[in-house]
Amino acid sequence: MDARRIAVIEDEATIAASVAARLRAEGFEVEVAEDGPAGVELCRSFRPDLIVLDLMLPGIDGLEVCRRLRARSDVPVIMLTALGAETDRVMGLELGADDYVGKPFSPRELALRVDSVLRRSGGPSSDVPALLTDGPLVIDSDRHVATRAGEPLALTAREFDLLRFLVAHPGTAYTREDLLQHVWGWTIGDRSTVTVHVRRLREKVEDDPRRPERLLTVWGVGYRWEASS
Ligand code: CA
Repeated sequence: MDARRIAVIEDEATIAASVAARLRAEGFEVEVAEDGPAGVELCRSFRPDLIVLDLMLPGIDGLEVCRRLRARSDVPVIMLTALGAETDRVMGLELGADDYVGKPFSPRELALRVDSVLRRSGGPSSDVPALLTDGPLVIDSDRHVATRAGEPLALTAREFDLLRFLVAHPGTAYTREDLLQHVWGWTIGDRSTVTVHVRRLREKVEDDPRRPERLLTVWGVGYRWEASS
């Protein structure tokens, strides 16, 4: 099996070099781009399985890079953000990033996050059937494709995981912390990550995202999936 490919888009040479070295040591094939336009071009030519994307880049910034990538691909994106820059983080998640790591981080921490995202985007978790159906929704974990009334849904890896988890457990209310743990694999984390992904998912699976009928808010708790009747 070919090595999985990771594109690192980061202008700070020391960070890019240490991230690339760590990921190569883990067996990945890694290419680095040093600014936004070069990053977009790299993703086109290299066709990575995952992208590590810094937010502060010369040329075009990471948010714009993410927007351009998402226009044509659902490849997983992990953003590198300045610590505490919540606006950037939420913007990145809105634009379809799958995960983020706050600077400063250790290369080991990033490598763990890469493994987690790839594992989640690469196949079904053990307790969920490979093929789930719910009314017009069909979720095929083997092919990593979700359709609604036969139309493919353009979901990021995390959105796919979140939808699969909720549809597999209809009627159960989950807190944001529960979902961070089950879907993201985080024991601690930022609950707004879940809120943002729920909002994006509603836009893709609900007839009217402002009046959801399937992915319901449970006030004071979190969310639950209403099975199709
Ligand atoms: Ca930077």
